[in-house]
Order: sequence, then structure tokens, then C-alpha cells
Amino acid sequence: MPPEVLAAVGAPVLHHRSPDFLPVYERVLTRLGDVCRTENDVLLFGSSGTGAFESAVANLVSPGEPHLVVSAGAFGERWEAMVGAFGAEVDVLRYAWGEKPDADDLRARLSGREAKAVWLVQSETSTGVVADVQALAAAATDAGALVVVDAVSSLGAIRCETDAWGLDVVVAGSQKALMCPPGLGLAAVSAAALAATGSAPRFYFDWERTRAGQQTLDAPVTLPVSLVCGLDVALGLIAEEGLDAVFERHVRLGRAARAGAKALGLELFSPDEDSSAVVTAIRTPEGCDATELVNGLRDRFGITIANGHGALKGKVFRLGHIGWFDVFDVTTQLAAVEIVLSGMGAGIERGVAVTAALEAFES
Ligand code: PLP
Repeated sequence: MPPEVLAAVGAPVLHHRSPDFLPVYERVLTRLGDVCRTENDVLLFGSSGTGAFESAVANLVSPGEPHLVVSAGAFGERWEAMVGAFGAEVDVLRYAWGEKPDADDLRARLSGREAKAVWLVQSETSTGVVADVQALAAAATDAGALVVVDAVSSLGAIRCETDAWGLDVVVAGSQKALMCPPGLGLAAVSAAALAATGSAPRFYFDWERTRAGQQTLDAPVTLPVSLVCGLDVALGLIAEEGLDAVFERHVRLGRAARAGAKALGLELFSPDEDSSAVVTAIRTPEGCDATELVNGLRDRFGITIANGHGALKGKVFRLGHIGWFDVFDVTTQLAAVEIVLSGMGAGIERGVAVTAALEAFES
């Protein structure tokens, strides 16, 4: 996190209805609309991203209704379970982990089966794959379905044009590209989605209560004000850099990570394309365990990278490059991976990854 954000989070705590806090709250709601590229309400909750997603499920799903979840990784599977837990008749357009969902497949599936909403993941953090949400949303809208998008690891890193792409609900959390601690969830909600709320029981996550409260800056619950103050500063930094420049930086960071991994002689798990701008998933070399690599980086250098999720645990490792990241954060990760992997006996190419990453970043 940027030091300015940490300082704001650590400042004396404001009362959530005080004249000191209300302008901060108002600015955050406006700036979240800018980052989501929407004129719709962006509802803010004291929750993680999963909580904000649950708000969408609790407001849109009624027991017995047909819904379609597009699943190609851990988070698609989570939303399948959650939509099912609220009693929907869930159909799943399922892909193997690492595959990219296809809009034609979605069109075909929707031609044979009705769905009140289609539930999508923009950046599937478990695999590093970024879906073409614009094309998928068009297929869903043509079939008359609402479109709900998990943008937890993508909002503020890659383009998510809520209004222009016709996305009814876009969900994210504070802790990824928005450069804050965890604890705030948000949902940008269209008028059509607000009008389509269902009968599932809900209270804390009720959209209408939250929307009405936000209109007069009178949140129905005590917000985590320190996090909102941090988010205000973080959104200011994003505005200062410019959203398009932020997206461009992420594309170049992704290029750097992939070029460095390939120079080491490693095989990418994420697609080798500019859309992979959030997290780069890489296969561990034959005979090496990603858990040992992840622990090695942590114990020797204090660097946090991620293991594979689920069945990919041990076989894949993931380098993050979202939010407050520059190219030297990527080259530092690559240099440390190089040292630890070679200590594990992997036959990798030494001394070239950092140069390749820097060149790709500049390209
Ligand atoms: N969706 C995606 C794509 C994520 O990457 C994550 C967290 O990593 C989540 C949802 C869950 O968000 P949270 O952990 O904030 O509840």
C-alpha cells in the first residue's frame, strides 16, 4: 500500500456522521463511480469482496429461479456455490481451470435455457486468466439476462466499462488494485438490477437500505471509517495518475512478468497476452514444488508470492502485479524466484530474467 494510504488509515478515527467524515464519504462514492466508469450507484459495505458479491446474490436471487454461472476457476466455483446456497436453479457453463470463457459458448447455452442473471468473473485470480467481459456481457444481455461481474482483482487494474458494456452489477474489494487494506466491499448496481431484486432474506446487505442511506450520506451501519479515509487517498492517487495510464502500467507489468518467466525457461500457465495484466501464473519446473518456492521467497527475502489454488497447489506459482506496483517490484520477484529455484536444483537460465523483464516493460 502507498504510504499516504497507510497514513490515512492510521490517522485519528472520525465519527461516521461527523462533518469531518461526510465529505470524505461523498468523495469516495463519487470516485468509485469514476473507477467503475458508471453513473449508477456504487454501494459500499464493510465487508470483503465476497460480502459485496453476497449482496448481489441476496438481492437478485429468489429460490427456484434459473441463473447461469460461468466458471473457469476458484472464484467461478465460489459463486456457483453461493448462488446455489440461496436456492437458485444454477446452470454452470464450466471450463477447465486456465481456459478462457467464450462468448459464443455463452450465447449457445442461453439459447436453450433461460437465466435471470449471468454471473461472470473478470479476472480469475486463481489462474491469471482475464475474461472478455464485454463480449460475454453482450451475449447475456441479448438473451435478456442481467450481468453480474466479479471484478475483485481487476477493478482499477484493467478496463471495466460498467455502463458502456451494460454491466448491471460490478463487485470489488478494497484490497487489490484499489491499494487499501481489506475490509471494504463495493457493488456498482444498475437501475435494472435494483428493480429486479428478489425474495431472499437479507438485511445488512440489502441494496435499497444502503442506497437510500448513501443518498443522504447517512450509511445504515457504522462504516469502517479508517478504511474509507484510506480509500479516499488511494482513489485520489489513481485519479492523479489517470485511469488509462494505470491500465497501461498494468499491461506493461504483465509483459515484464511473462518475459522474465520465459527468460528463466519457465512455462506460463496464464495466457501469454496483454490481457494477463493482473497476476502471472507460472508452472513450477519438473521436480520442483511451488510450496517450497513460495516459502523460500518468504523466509529468505520477505517476498510474498502465491501458491497455486486447489488442484494447482504445488504445481503453479503466481506473481501479483496489481495496484501499487512498479517494474522493480516485478524484477525483484523474478530475481528472488531465480535464486530460490536454482537452489532447489531447477535447471533454469540464470542472469537473464531481469533484463528481459525490463525490456518488455519498456516495449
Ligand atoms: N474474486 C476474486 C477474483 C478474487 O481474487 C477474490 C480474492 O482473492 C475474491 C473474489 C474474494 O474476495 P475477498 O477475499 O475480498 O472476499
